[in-house]
Amino acid sequence: MRIFDPHIHMTSRTTDDYEAMYAAGVRAVVEPSFWLGQPRTSVESFTDYFDALLGWEPYRAQQFGIRHHCTIALNPKEANDPRCAGVLDVLPRYLAKNRVVAVGEIGYDSMTPEEDEALARQLELAIQHELPVLVHTPHRDKAVGTRRTLDVVRESGIPPERVLVDHLNELTVTMVADSGCWMGFSIYPHTKMSEDRMVRILKEHGTERMLVNSAADWGRSDPLKTRKTADTMLAAGFDDDTVDQVMWRNPVDFYGQSGRLDVEDVEPDDTALFEGNSIKRGGE
Ligand SMILES: [Zn+2]
Repeated sequence: MRIFDPHIHMTSRTTDDYEAMYAAGVRAVVEPSFWLGQPRTSVESFTDYFDALLGWEPYRAQQFGIRHHCTIALNPKEANDPRCAGVLDVLPRYLAKNRVVAVGEIGYDSMTPEEDEALARQLELAIQHELPVLVHTPHRDKAVGTRRTLDVVRESGIPPERVLVDHLNELTVTMVADSGCWMGFSIYPHTKMSEDRMVRILKEHGTERMLVNSAADWGRSDPLKTRKTADTMLAAGFDDDTVDQVMWRNPVDFYGQSGRLDVEDVEPDDTALFEGNSIKRGGE
């Protein structure tokens, strides 16, 4: 099995996680730039972080056999902090870099006028740089926030096939499916979406334009949720090829639109056997 986690914050994770992910079949990740938990107080704080996503983290991932790419943006939450507004001016410099495969995470947190402005400007940057976008949907008022997000995306003129709308659930999947955008689901241990609910959504809505991620970060989360969802799909009767489509080919097709994805020669590891939380390896 080969797995591409299209949304995971490895900066917040340990080398044990990288090892366990590799053993579970994860061969590529995209790390979106996001909120650090602690508010940043200057533009330089962002640029140091962006540089780490482009330098240190791919180097760390590579030591564990995992390809690392990132997405760069001013995140929705910090769009409300006037100290961070200057980030929008440094973005073009970063969006030109090789391992940046999308603009993101952008979108709404509290749906303020400042967030409107940041979202519109960053959609425009994505169009100028011919990059896909990763759009986060708010945790509160999710249906209203997702509807408004889709309206702004449509008005921006960006082709829907270049947009991934993330953190969806049963209430928001249909409107995003109808919009022509890609659909992202974050599988979390206690909140958001579970493996079983995800499999039910795939049964109902099909596997086209569907992406599954762990969104693992500094909170309670699990970087192996992609593999656990793949196993739940197999147990529910999906075949290997359909699992490969959702877990590998869909993210490759989506982020591949950047022209910068470096995964052609990645081989799945058939010697890795993964059962629940324990990983058994053979043939090495
Ligand atoms: Zn995230």
